[in-house]
Amino acid sequence: MAIVEAPKQFPTRLFIAGEFVDAADKRTYDSLNPATEDVIAPIACAGKADLEAAVAAARKSQPEWAALPPARRSSLIWKIGDEIMKRRHEFAALEAMDSGKPYKECHDIDVPMAADHFKYFAGVLRSLQGDTIPVNDNLFVYTLREPLGIVAGITPWNFPLLMAARKVAPAIAAGNAVILKPANPTPLTALLLAECIQAAKLPPGVVAVLPGKGSEVGQLIVEHPESAAISFTGSTSVGVKMVRDAAPSLKKLTMELGGKSPNVVFADADIETAVKGAQAAIFYNKGEVCTAGSRLFVEEKVHDEVVEKLAARAAKMKGSNPLDDECRYGPQNNKQQFDTTLKYIEAGKKEGARLVAGGARMGDKGYFVAPTVFADVKPEMTIAREEIFGPVLAVQKFSGFEELVEKANASEYGLAAGVWTRDVSKAHKYAKAVKAGAVWVNCYNWYDSAVPYGGYKASGYGREMGLQGLLAMTQSKSVWVQL
Ligand code: NAP
Ligand code: MG
Repeated sequence: MAIVEAPKQFPTRLFIAGEFVDAADKRTYDSLNPATEDVIAPIACAGKADLEAAVAAARKSQPEWAALPPARRSSLIWKIGDEIMKRRHEFAALEAMDSGKPYKECHDIDVPMAADHFKYFAGVLRSLQGDTIPVNDNLFVYTLREPLGIVAGITPWNFPLLMAARKVAPAIAAGNAVILKPANPTPLTALLLAECIQAAKLPPGVVAVLPGKGSEVGQLIVEHPESAAISFTGSTSVGVKMVRDAAPSLKKLTMELGGKSPNVVFADADIETAVKGAQAAIFYNKGEVCTAGSRLFVEEKVHDEVVEKLAARAAKMKGSNPLDDECRYGPQNNKQQFDTTLKYIEAGKKEGARLVAGGARMGDKGYFVAPTVFADVKPEMTIAREEIFGPVLAVQKFSGFEELVEKANASEYGLAAGVWTRDVSKAHKYAKAVKAGAVWVNCYNWYDSAVPYGGYKASGYGREMGLQGLLAMTQSKSVWVQL
């Protein structure tokens, strides 16, 4: 066991016009460590005046930023990626402390992926180009790809740095200015990212980071007439409200919302691999993953074996201090999520699902919840329908392909899906039939900066990452020239 050293100094103030500043009204709120329930630091809490200052700086700097030669913009954005990697340990330790994610995961996955988002978009921005379109001999018609102007990114608390990178990188790559509002419980790595942006010497004002409350500064961002777009990742209920509140200013919206993703084990799968995959699909990041494989469908013939093996694996998972570099399982991110997870576990028990692992909090300090597996789950049960966003797996049985597809698609959500089988044809048939924005075959939870990501149905609309994510941050202009 080795507890890594957490940075003693880190930014806690708002990032506006290239500087770290107090909130205009000097308000702060406390960010907590969910493993200890201790206060980490008071964080500046943005309000209306701070948002107006950020918008004014963005308005001023965005045209200059968009006018830079793409090669120059690219090299500045690439530099942000380099700065992130230089400070990999600080990012990983702050993220572990602020969010409850294990240090090793942050260090090995979140931080390099966040850096790669900047490098990927730094690369592809130079391919942003228009078309020439043959119309008739007397006309020369071409299109231009232009930035939207000022865009906002509003992020959740489950992958704080990665989500911040996912919003900022494509927006600035396309020549926009961006105002980022990180989730209230996890502001620290978004602010450290602001230091990297400062170090990369972007024009001041191109990026602002405004920690604060969703219901206050978040709401004001959504209603602000000058922001052209919002890229939101969060719950479906807040997303729906945002669509309404953004309607009067006709903002372009990208909605990455909740999920209740089906993961399927066919009897012909490599069972050991499938069980390990199903375990990671639900318990990775303590179930606080929008794509978590929270509904597991197992073919009748192998059902009992899979449930038994999964339960045994879940029972062996122990929570520990996320700053311990051997930690593989942390606490729920915050008290509210902790209470929600326990409430759903009680609903599972009450509605008659069979508890085969976990089922309670772990320890008596911090927001740890034992990895929980319910078998004999019926489709109408609460734990089979609602997003829990915690380490709770609902296992159901199936006996034929048609029945499976019907059950898998019987959800209001459609974010992701997994399937484990050795039959190539079955895998592809299922991938086509399932209503989801991502399908993993014999794997789960793979992501790459280059691969588009987003949901079907109540999981949202629009796509982030990849070329689609870059194009979403632009608008097209058609120019007609009489010859
Ligand atoms: P949330 O409550 O919807 O909050 C998300 C963000 O929106 C936070 O920054 C929040 O600020 C802000 N917000 C809240 N009310 C707002 C309002 N009226 N106007 C503007 N902003 C507002 O979600 P969460 O609890 O942070 O995250 C969990 C949810 O995110 C889950 O449902 C999960 O499935 C979803 N998620 C989806 C994806 C995906 O890619 N599809 C990825 C990760 C998470 P405060 O923190 O200050 O409330
Ligand atoms: Mg925190």
